[in-house]
Amino acid sequence: MDHARPEDWYRVQRLSDDVTLIDEPHIKPFYRCNIWHVRGRDRDMLVDSGMGVVSLREWVPLVTERALTAVASHTHFDHIGCHHEFADRVVHRAEADILANPGNAATLADPYVTDDIFDTLPPTPYRSVTYSLTAAPATRLVDDGDVIDLGDRHFEVIHTPGHSPGGIALWEARTQTLFSGDIVYDGPLIEDTYHADAADYHASMVRLFDLPVRVVHGGHFPSYDGARHRQIIRDWLDAHER
Ligand SMILES: [Zn+2]
Ligand SMILES: [Zn+2]
Repeated sequence: MDHARPEDWYRVQRLSDDVTLIDEPHIKPFYRCNIWHVRGRDRDMLVDSGMGVVSLREWVPLVTERALTAVASHTHFDHIGCHHEFADRVVHRAEADILANPGNAATLADPYVTDDIFDTLPPTPYRSVTYSLTAAPATRLVDDGDVIDLGDRHFEVIHTPGHSPGGIALWEARTQTLFSGDIVYDGPLIEDTYHADAADYHASMVRLFDLPVRVVHGGHFPSYDGARHRQIIRDWLDAHER
């Protein structure tokens, strides 16, 4: 398989409300993490940072223009790879240890990372057998109800365990925008990781159903509106009768 050039690794798409999607198009869709950049008045926010196989800071100028807070929706390998490149790092308390010591088993790099997850390999000298993450100890630990303050924009932390114990969603009430991480998105959800919890997952889905969302930006797959949000969760709850 060919190796991509670093300048071709990331794709940047500006959406509305000063939200920009950065992703890694050479990774197959199911494994491809959405990296979300949000512009604020006083600082910017990055939600997740991809696999870390190409420097975000070097190749995506958007993330270096202003002060930036890098939030981890959770600590799986596809979401935290470039967190070490940012000085201000936020994670939920329950996954602080993984961000500080991101071993391949703890982050699910083992067993997921093989050449099979790519359409084109990352730039040389990348090799899947030696893939590892760089430690990025958090500079701030958050709990449910805490706020990421960008000056004019405020994102409330909603603790959404289930996919992983420290999963968080970020909710901007003014624009009715939800960054949901991997707890819910418009594609196959992962409910069987080593630290998943079925009861927690159910409670998180019930809680997110009641949010008056207008748009959801998930950890994977395209964004969707409030009607689709309620349909996805309704269908999930119907399939998980308790
Ligand atoms: Zn995940
Ligand atoms: Zn993911």
